Parts: sequence; C-alpha cells; structure tokens
Amino acid sequence: MYDKLIFDLSKPGKTGVSLPQTDVPHRDNLIPDQLRRKEPIGLPEVSEPEVMRHFHNLSIKNHHIDKGFYPLGSCTMKYNPKINEVTARLSGLADLHPLQPAEQVQGALRLLVELGEALLEVSGMDGVTLQPAAGAHGELTGLLLMRAYHESQGHPRRKVIIPDSAHGTNPASIITAGYEVVQIPSNADGLIDVQALKNVLDTEVAAMMITNPNTLGMFESNILEVAELVHNAGGLLYMDGANLNAMLGITRPGDMNFDVVHINLHKTFSTPHGGGGPGAGPVAVKQHLVPFLPGPLPVKDGDKYHWQEPGPQSIGRVGSFYGNFGVLVRAYTYILMMGAEGLRQVSERAVINANYLRALLEPHYELPYKRRSLHEVVFSGDGLKPYGVKTTDVAKRLLDYGYHAPTIYFPLIVHEALMIEPTETESKETLDAFAQAMINIAEEARTNPELLHRAPIATPVGRLDEAGAARALNVVYKPEAEQK
Ligand SMILES: *Cc1c(COP(=O)(O)O)cnc(C)c1O
Repeated sequence: MYDKLIFDLSKPGKTGVSLPQTDVPHRDNLIPDQLRRKEPIGLPEVSEPEVMRHFHNLSIKNHHIDKGFYPLGSCTMKYNPKINEVTARLSGLADLHPLQPAEQVQGALRLLVELGEALLEVSGMDGVTLQPAAGAHGELTGLLLMRAYHESQGHPRRKVIIPDSAHGTNPASIITAGYEVVQIPSNADGLIDVQALKNVLDTEVAAMMITNPNTLGMFESNILEVAELVHNAGGLLYMDGANLNAMLGITRPGDMNFDVVHINLHKTFSTPHGGGGPGAGPVAVKQHLVPFLPGPLPVKDGDKYHWQEPGPQSIGRVGSFYGNFGVLVRAYTYILMMGAEGLRQVSERAVINANYLRALLEPHYELPYKRRSLHEVVFSGDGLKPYGVKTTDVAKRLLDYGYHAPTIYFPLIVHEALMIEPTETESKETLDAFAQAMINIAEEARTNPELLHRAPIATPVGRLDEAGAARALNVVYKPEAEQK
C-alpha cells in the first residue's frame, strides 16, 4: 500500500549529477575544523530519474485543484491561472534581494503600490498594508490597529463581538489581541440578530467582526443598521473579507461602513494555497486608522517609488520585509489579467455556480437556511441519520468519486454541516457530475450504508484516525536496521 521511502531507494554512490574534478588546489585547512561535519549527513543517494519519479508519484496521490474539483467552502479553492506562475518566476522579480535599495527595485515597488491601489478600489477603503502573511494574521493586525485607535482615544476597551457563524480564526485572533469574545446568536434566517446585538453593545465594546456574506453564504442585509449601532456605541466595524468572491465589482466593505477589512489574496485573487500556505492577508482601513498602519509602506513620489517609514502612531512591523512577495506578484497578475469587468464576472459566476448546485442538491440533502445564498451553500447531513450515516461518511465517499470533500462540520450553527463553494472557475459539466456523485451517495446511504462507513476505498490510504494522525505525527526516518 505504501510506496518505498526515498531512503529505501538509496544505494551508496548513486548520484543525480556528475561534477568534473575540481581544479582548485586541495588544502586541508580551507574549512576550519570546528565547522566540519563529523558524521555523514545521511541523505539518500539516488539518480535524477529516481528522484523525479518518486516525488512525481507522491504528488499525484494528493488531491489538488489541477487534478480535480475542490469545493471546500469558505476556502475558495479556485483554479489558479498559470500566467500567475510565469510572472512570479520572472527573474526581475524572483531574483531580487529584499535588502536591495529602493532605486534598484523600482518595478517591484511599483507593483506593490499598484496592487495596494487595486485592493483599495475593490474594498472601498483609504489605506492598506500588504505585510500580513495570511487571513488570520490580517485579523490580528486589524485588531491591533483598532486597539491602537481606541488607545489614542484614551481607552482600548475590552470586548469584541462576533456572530455565532464566525470563522474559528475570529475568536482566536480576538483573544490574541488581548480582547474578550462576546458571541451573539444568529436569527432564524441565519443573519445577525439585531436585538441580540443591541443587548450586548456598551462602551467596553471595541469592535464587531463580521463576515459578509457570512459563512452560510448569506448577505447580511441589515449591515448598514448594524454598522450604525456599533459606531454609535463608539465601536469599530471589522470585516472578515477572507473571501470576497461574492462581491467583486458589485459592492464594497467600505460602502457598507466597515472600518477595517482583511483580504485573503490566496482565496479571492487566485494564488495557490492549502496545506498551510503560502498566503497573503492585506489589511485595508478607513482614513481614521491609516496613521496606525504597519510600516514601512511603499509609496509613489512623482515618478519614483520609495519606502516610507511609519509615523509615531504605527503599530510597527507585522511581517519581515515586504510580506509574501511571490503571492503579491500572483495576485497583481490576476487582477490585471481580469480587469474590472472580469472581476465583476468572477463574482457573478461564483454566485450562479453556488446557486446552481443548491438547486440540484436541495431535493436530496437538508437545507437548513432556505434563503438564497451567494457564493457558497450549506447543507446538513441530518437527513441521513436514519440510515446511520454521518456527514463525515459522505465526505469520505466523495473521495472515491474523485472529488475533494466540501468543508464539513462548519459553520458550527449547522448540524452535520456540508459547506460547498464551487467557485467561478468550474464548468456546468463539472458541477453536474459533482451533483450526480452527491445524489448517488445519498442513495448509497439508504441502500448500502456499510459502504459509506468504510469509505474511502479507492484512495492510496483508507480511512485514517485523523486525531491520531495529527497528534501522534511521526515523520522521522530511521533505517530499517535501527528500527528494531
Ligand atoms: C480562510 C478564512 C480565514 C482565515 O484565513 P487564513 O489565510 O487561513 O488564515 C478567516 N476567515 C474566513 C471567513 C475564512 O474563510
């Protein structure tokens, strides 16, 4: 079942390259003794084709967006156009050193300035930092900005409000920024309960964090009223814009009176992600928060670009150098390739695709919140309970059909949740085939639940003890002789 490890393929003396004899005269003391390795390094010795085949075969065992449909809700696993990879590899960008003086890297600075301008246009905000390396990092940055703002007003305040549909990173970021989490329930439509919000608003509330459309895929239609209530209490409004796929060119966080928003370039702006990175989570703010932004900031001055050191109120750096530059290049490429009209079409198609799947699957899976959704839709596996089948079984069985599973058991307010986000990059044929697989699985649940309990059966490894695999991870190779 398992492939050999590359160490098992190793034979002493095998090598991928043959270098000519050195013509540098040999001198024993060239490298001081204390810097010399005492033991052999223990790397595998294999030929170039063996290395290539080993890693290529491993890579195709994993699911990835170039291999198949990946409808992971909230994560926006859209296809990443290959032109992004071409520009990110251009020597003039890829081979820069982060310490090169500004006059030598004018093009890179221009790219950062123009990416920032595009994000301000998309978000309707006034200032932006590109430093945060991920969405959660952007959230922490945004919270620190709001804390600095409140401190400048004399009191940092104590609490941050979130709805119970919030992404798990929101409460984690709130705690990390030194605030208390105040959670309010959603109403029967899956939206913010305005009365519940009024009940918790007081002068200790620093901010409210909202995902819009929320994690049920629904637009918070009372957002202007919510913004007014929070602002009247002296609080700030934070938008978790990890996923802007439903609003590009249609509406903007700034127009909804949000004060801060983070944007996941690795979701909406098509840079490869998953398995932990890389990413970028720029944070955009309204004018009253601009003085607190991290620095240095790339700026245009006449026809030259330079780094502007942060002012005295800045929260300081939140990332080394200029952020994840390779990700920023990809997002910039994507935005230029799409253009304003293209970006709007992204959102229109993402919304149509999600609603198409919703219509195909509604007769077969429970839909707890019936309002029209935007870019994603959340079903419940509760209807399969009579057959002893759980959402996790449906997810595992989808792997046998060649699909990545949707997000499951999130958002927490939906029992046995199945959260599907198809994105705009999938064709009707792909959506039809996926829906058919989901419908087949619902039928299998009724007729052959045992099969679903055993799934997946067609993948390189079967059902894993997921907690064990994460907690008792063992990635240290020991040669067979030492294992005994
Ligand atoms: C993905 C996501 C985040 C976190 O982003 P990371 O880049 O994974 O840290 C936060 N909020 C929502 C709604 C998300 O979908």
